[in-house]
Amino acid sequence: MSMSRTEATSSSRAAQRRADRRGQADGEAASIEFRDLTFTYPGTTTPAVNGISFDVSASSVVALVGPSGCGKSTMLRLVAGLLDPTGGQLLIDGNDATHIRPEHRHIGWVPQSYALFDHLDVTGNISFGLRMRKVPADQRAERVREVLELCRITELAGRSVGDLSGGQRQRVAIARALATKPRLLLLDEPLAALDPQLRRTLRSELARLLRASGVTSLLVTHDQTEALAMADRVAVLQRGTLEQFGSPEQLWNTPANPFVAEFVGSATVVEGTHLGNGVVQVAPGLEVLADGQLEGVRRVQLALRNTDLIVDPDGVPFEVQSREFIGESWLATGELETGAFVTLATDATARPGDTVKIAARPGVQVTVVESE
Ligand code: ADP
Repeated sequence: MSMSRTEATSSSRAAQRRADRRGQADGEAASIEFRDLTFTYPGTTTPAVNGISFDVSASSVVALVGPSGCGKSTMLRLVAGLLDPTGGQLLIDGNDATHIRPEHRHIGWVPQSYALFDHLDVTGNISFGLRMRKVPADQRAERVREVLELCRITELAGRSVGDLSGGQRQRVAIARALATKPRLLLLDEPLAALDPQLRRTLRSELARLLRASGVTSLLVTHDQTEALAMADRVAVLQRGTLEQFGSPEQLWNTPANPFVAEFVGSATVVEGTHLGNGVVQVAPGLEVLADGQLEGVRRVQLALRNTDLIVDPDGVPFEVQSREFIGESWLATGELETGAFVTLATDATARPGDTVKIAARPGVQVTVVESE
């Protein structure tokens, strides 16, 4: 059915107004699809990014997380068009964008150190991209006002960037990237340049800002707590391959494998024997209830979290090897009789070298990561 000219015009105007309100360009935030995306650096044989496939829906915040060298920055450079994939496809809004030039992708980039222009003030930094695009002065001023407000830094407009705190610099860098209304924002370790104390406070503000801007955001972090706290979906990478893609809750509750359970879920993966009815023996006398169906299964790997085990005088021996103070309690890591290492919260009396008795926390259901 064809639309009349008037209808088409008024509906596209409405779409534009909606987009403008969300601070986006060209009507909509972009969706991205990775299809078997592969990249091998020249002169190397192992792909830095190896057959990665997942979808990023429009306006969502997706975190790429994994240990150093797993391919996060390479992924970001592939999306930006700074590297050309050696295999697979990158789709933007369903269209093949694999070989589209960077300047035609309409992407905003927030580099790790923010790379602000020190010779320009805050307004000069934010309006820089608009000047390059020859946007008229009145529209530039209007857009700068909008992003200053969105980033809650209106009072910084005339300040020299050299005088700003780390958190303020971060927001100016984001405002600068958003000023040109990108359809996709790439953020490389956006919190890495900040003091440890600030990181936690600023991550929720950053998450708010990304959602309020409506732009599709892809952020890189090596810190799984940041990924879980900020993203709608998280892609977990290891050595160039995708280990799991899912919501923070999915990664936490149903890790696809021991790597995800340990890296993202802060768990210790231990082996156990299924005795029946979901009861798994981790060591002689130490039994836990598994979360999930285990009919016909004998050997399992469990993701034990720090809170799953407790000190219990009727429990099994656990030799404390090391401990760290975490505020309300100590975290003790040590060995069971079987030689398996586990970590649990204890009080100050359990010191390295001591043997204490431990048991499963009553009522706890432990996540199964693998079974056979
Ligand atoms: P991450 O950002 O997760 O730390 P990278 O994407 O930087 O990981 O690196 C992924 C892999 O590619 C690593 O093994 C790294 O050594 C390699 N690599 C990165 N940049 C280059 C390069 N310019 N030339 C060759 N190998 C590289």
